[in-house]
Formats: sequence, C-alpha cells, structure tokens
Amino acid sequence: METGRDGFRIVRFRLDAIDNQTVVEPAPAIDHDPAFASAVVTRRIRDTAVAREVKELYDFSCQICGIGLRGFEGRKYAEGAHVRPLGRPHLGADHLENLLCLCPNHHTQLDIGGIWISDDMVAMYATSHEPVATLSWKKRHRVNRENVAYHRSLWPSIAELAS
Ligand SMILES: [Zn+2]
Repeated sequence: METGRDGFRIVRFRLDAIDNQTVVEPAPAIDHDPAFASAVVTRRIRDTAVAREVKELYDFSCQICGIGLRGFEGRKYAEGAHVRPLGRPHLGADHLENLLCLCPNHHTQLDIGGIWISDDMVAMYATSHEPVATLSWKKRHRVNRENVAYHRSLWPSIAELAS
C-alpha cells in the first residue's frame, strides 16, 4: 500500500503462478469479424449500426410492450436485442433477422430466459408459459425462426415445451 501523486492510496499486488497451473492461452484476435470482435464487449456499448437501424425502425418503442422510454429533452431510448446472442459460443448474426427493438426490461428478460419466443412470434413467459404479447412488426422486418429456436434451445425445458 502506498500513496500516489494525487493523494489516493494505491494497493499493489504481486501475482505468483501456482505450481502445475494450467497456462491459459489468450484467444486469437480476429478483428475483421464483428461477431468475434464484440464477443467480450458488454451489451450497452455494443450498439452496432444494425442495432441503431432496428431502434429507428420502431421509433425506439418495445416490440413486446410498446413502451418507448423518453429522457431529457425527449431523447429516445430503446435497446437492440440480439435473439441469438452475438458472443461466443453462440455467434449469432448482427443482422435485422436476429434483432428486436426492446425496452431494457424485456431485453434483459429475453437475455436471462424469462421470456421465449414461439415460432409464430408470440413472446411467452418462461415461468407460466402464458403469452406476454404478440410481437409487433414493421413491414420490412422479421426475425428468423432459426434464431428464436436457437434462443429457446439455451433453456432445455423451454425448448422441450415449444417443440
Ligand atoms: Zn418492453
């Protein structure tokens, strides 16, 4: 422990390898592939061009509940939700056929398996398997059935029930 130039206390650690410890090799960096490049980036800053496109298409309103959050001076907020996750090992596509415009609550619920989507594009509660809502769609946008099936497959009890 020492005091830094600006008066803050600095804690320093020394890392020692344990005997016979497995060496962890860093994953190879593949910069040209957006799916690989964004695998370690958190959701909030993974605002890709196509995510912005889906949000603008729905005027920043949730396809499940219709809520459009508005902030200071009317600033609009919604989230582009990848149905099949972008990161490893899922490697979902960063494409409109894999994206929904959702409010933060429904985005989170989708990501943690609290909601699943049927083949006829009805959002269902994972606890009761009752419908939440039929997704609303703009003319030129549809999500691919393979992607909703992949999302369901992440939770085996849901996949079983939906098949
Ligand atoms: Zn919502």
